[in-house]
Amino acid sequence: MGTSPVVTYPRIMGHEMTGVVEKVGSSVIHVGPGDHVIIKQTESCGSCYACTHGRGNVCVDLKVRGVTIDGGYSQYTVVPEHSVYKISKKLDLLQAILIEPFTIAFHALARGRLVADDTLLVYGAGALGSSLIMVAHSFGCKIIAVDIDEKKLEHAKAIGADIVLNGRVDTIQDDIRKASNGYGPTICIDSVCTPHSVEFLLEVVGNAGRLVTMGFDTRPSEIPQFKITAREIDVIGSRLQQGNFEQVIELFENGSIKTEGMISHIFPFTKVQEAFRVIESGKYQKVVLDFS
Ligand SMILES: [Zn+2]
Repeated sequence: MGTSPVVTYPRIMGHEMTGVVEKVGSSVIHVGPGDHVIIKQTESCGSCYACTHGRGNVCVDLKVRGVTIDGGYSQYTVVPEHSVYKISKKLDLLQAILIEPFTIAFHALARGRLVADDTLLVYGAGALGSSLIMVAHSFGCKIIAVDIDEKKLEHAKAIGADIVLNGRVDTIQDDIRKASNGYGPTICIDSVCTPHSVEFLLEVVGNAGRLVTMGFDTRPSEIPQFKITAREIDVIGSRLQQGNFEQVIELFENGSIKTEGMISHIFPFTKVQEAFRVIESGKYQKVVLDFS
């Protein structure tokens, strides 16, 4: 947060949050005291073009909890009903924090219009790529994962990738084509997010396919428009999530998504400094602060 160009002060930090409802306003009907909930981390204006066309996640006046509005680093917080989603009490409240990152994966797949007969290429099998693979697996499509790290590829296979390929080999383009029955993947999702990854995926995506970008790299890519036009490729951006919480909560509740090992550290909020030291060390998966 110290170097973020978008954060405004003064600000209570804390981006992703779950909790137990303590009290509700008189007009609230969907949740009540005692319910376990996850909080959406954005608020939209509700009136711009994006908002009135079901795309509030790219509202022109988007507010983000912990960044431009107050977040979850507190024992109590007040949020509007439309940003609260009820979760089963069978889910561990701390593990349920991970629902939010999975909604981002779900949204990217929805933006790519993923259906069961697609061949999906997940380019990059780190944390984001893994969440994409796990959610995509529930769609029943064929999944190819590419990474340069064999350990990540092993993990990708274990969580649902049908074919894993090492991106370091010279034959990677041919390998991807062979793995997709000679056609090329019908959806490519870029979870490497560099200028080169967009260029590469435009080469390998099949005709009439979709290329979904998720990165915030501001460096330009070299993309001749011919490559998009000639094979009618849809290049689609995907940011945050839009109305995907219910579907992802269901995947958590029915056990389709397994989160073991994804949260590396849980600290009581009184040890917040220790938590930040872990983050500064870079040696963590996900760090959770417990305010209960
Ligand atoms: Zn708006």
